[in-house]
Amino acid sequence: MKKLTFVLPALLAGVLLPAVPARAATLKVVATTQDLESLAKEVGGDKVDTDSLAKGYQDPHQVEPKPSFILKLNKADLLIVVGRELEIGWLPPLINQARNPRIQPGSPRYLDASQFAHILEIPTGQITRAMGDVHPQGNPHYWLSPENGRRIAQGIQKKLTEISPGDAAYFAQRYAEFDRKLSEGEKRWQAQMAPYKGTKIVTYHRSWPNFVEAFGLEVVGYVEPKPGIPPSPSHTFDLTQEMKKDGIKIIVMEPYFDPKTPNAIARDTGAQVVTLAPSVGGAKGAAVDDYIQLFDYDVKTLVAGFQAAGVK
Ligand SMILES: [Zn+2]
Repeated sequence: MKKLTFVLPALLAGVLLPAVPARAATLKVVATTQDLESLAKEVGGDKVDTDSLAKGYQDPHQVEPKPSFILKLNKADLLIVVGRELEIGWLPPLINQARNPRIQPGSPRYLDASQFAHILEIPTGQITRAMGDVHPQGNPHYWLSPENGRRIAQGIQKKLTEISPGDAAYFAQRYAEFDRKLSEGEKRWQAQMAPYKGTKIVTYHRSWPNFVEAFGLEVVGYVEPKPGIPPSPSHTFDLTQEMKKDGIKIIVMEPYFDPKTPNAIARDTGAQVVTLAPSVGGAKGAAVDDYIQLFDYDVKTLVAGFQAAGVK
């Protein structure tokens, strides 16, 4: 009996104790996209366990729901969403089925990152999804400007601090370090893009207004007639004429669309098709593992496209 009481505390100390504090201290953060996951990881460090639902190579408007998503949402301490109806086609039923009252829309643990961002293309007239436009509340691809990444990271810092006030100094230090890395990146990216200021481009989807604003480019047309509406022969014809008239040499596209129409337009106009990563994890054949790498990759790839197209 004496021996047993001696052994049991030793077992408890050796096996159970190390696991308990780690589990209690780690917040489970689920983000709908890898971009928001990356920003949460930057700020949360080892105080958070992060996960994402949509992968960067998927169209974030149209993600196939999986049972594993429901499980992740069920265990989440915090859910971070893009908002602006980006996820409206797939996220609401998953949240309902997750049976986690804390992360319901409107609850403190449901964080809509768009509240922190500078949102472009907010419709002035009456625009509904019934008209076929999937951007009825302004452009939801707003994470593609470094300044918005900074604002979102700061919003996440505030939220994590609210949830875990004891870690306030840690989150503040992590945010400051991310802000520093991002500022260094901005200098690098601005220098690389400087020769191409004012260049006019065409993009497949309206994914890039914040990106082109950040780097001084201009989008003059889209392969899609409207966001979410596939290319039509008449629209493609008009766009091709426009590109020839204006001498547009670059078509930027996202990896999840069919390259058939952009390739045909490129053959007809002598333009280059450049596939950029719209998100972390969204580059074809390259590792783009975090938010800083996303811009490193996109700027490098776009500059290579400008050079191949002979844009000065
Ligand atoms: Zn969109």
